[in-house]
Amino acid sequence: MGAPLHEEKVFKDPVHKYIYVQDQAIWDLINTREFQRLRRIRQLGTSFMTFHGAEHSRFSHSLGVYEVARKIISQFERNDYSEWPREERILALSSALLHDIGHGPFSHSIERVFGTDHEEWTCKLVLGDTEVNRVLREVDPSLPKNVSDVICKSYGKSIVVSLISSQLDADRMDYLLRDAYFTGVNYGTFDLERILRVIRPHKGRIVVKESGMHAVEDYLMARYQMYWQIYFHPVTRSSEIVLRKIFERANFLYKQTFDFRFMPAAFESLLKGTLTLDDYLELDESYVQMTLMQWTRERDPILADLCDRFLNRKLFKYATLDSEPSPCEEELRTWMKAKGVDPDYYMEIDFLSALPYDLYRAGEKESLPILLLDGKDELVEISRKSEIVRSISEIHQGERRVYYPDDLLKQFVTELPDGWRARFGWDEV
Ligand code: CA
Repeated sequence: MGAPLHEEKVFKDPVHKYIYVQDQAIWDLINTREFQRLRRIRQLGTSFMTFHGAEHSRFSHSLGVYEVARKIISQFERNDYSEWPREERILALSSALLHDIGHGPFSHSIERVFGTDHEEWTCKLVLGDTEVNRVLREVDPSLPKNVSDVICKSYGKSIVVSLISSQLDADRMDYLLRDAYFTGVNYGTFDLERILRVIRPHKGRIVVKESGMHAVEDYLMARYQMYWQIYFHPVTRSSEIVLRKIFERANFLYKQTFDFRFMPAAFESLLKGTLTLDDYLELDESYVQMTLMQWTRERDPILADLCDRFLNRKLFKYATLDSEPSPCEEELRTWMKAKGVDPDYYMEIDFLSALPYDLYRAGEKESLPILLLDGKDELVEISRKSEIVRSISEIHQGERRVYYPDDLLKQFVTELPDGWRARFGWDEV
């Protein structure tokens, strides 16, 4: 299924050194307008505000996931494992390449405010009237539907799904290494080559040879550290919050039929909830940033101020809160309102928690455990063998934080309600 390229193509890549394209269909998918658009969407959203190197795109990550999947499949084929369904190669590679194609600009913030869903857009892009759809259909008329099923985890052969979404999948293996590389930190690194050597197809799953346990431990530790050091970094969260507040304010104003000086068509469709495929493809990060730039001159002071804060990185500061909500948080809100600083747009309580590895819970497909294959051909869930995995799965680290504009509140420092001066670190002011 699918013709090979006459001559192999390569992309130079800082994480995998080279990315090899051997199939005409993969090459054609990369050259579609829908895939090329991923060059204009950053992999880590607003993280570049915290780690200035984090400018890498979803294009590079998608190629990376494809390359990891290609290496896994090629290892399975070289070893002639009968449990790997060889006929699924093109389906698996196309799904790996396209798994993020539905992402829009700053997905986290936009999805929360407007309820758009990147998986839904992925299906629309794969199944709709698009260049991607035409390339897939040319290989096999059933390929678009199968790709969308693999990405939405409903495809019948679970081994193909687990290659792209499981607790040890091509997606995570690429993004941990790539995000670590581009943020410039040392945390996310682990021995990819070693993991690729010790995984096997086994009874419809991808499992790990027991001797590879330590490499997997290292990978799970990398994930744990990347979450707390990079993905949940308070400055990144702050920039996401400010961006979300901008969208919320724009949404509010639009509903009030506010007379925007500047309102580009695709953005208006987003506010109206009438996004078409073409609108969606037009909305990239440059489009959003250009809109924010124009909105710094809008007549609404809140919208203009928030856009200025986002573009010029005058973000909200944060303070850590107790783990349970307390009445003094409501007091702060009321006080802010009285001071003319609207807490709906200038205050946010954020709660974070993430598990680096989900212990298996019966019936939950999402958290399929990582299984080790021992010398007697028996499967053991990894935390039964590994004390490290056991202990990191039990960390229920969570943190509540309040975000606020310290420049606006500081002018009223002596009037802050009880306890907040100490919390904001202003006792000495
Ligand atoms: Ca991904």
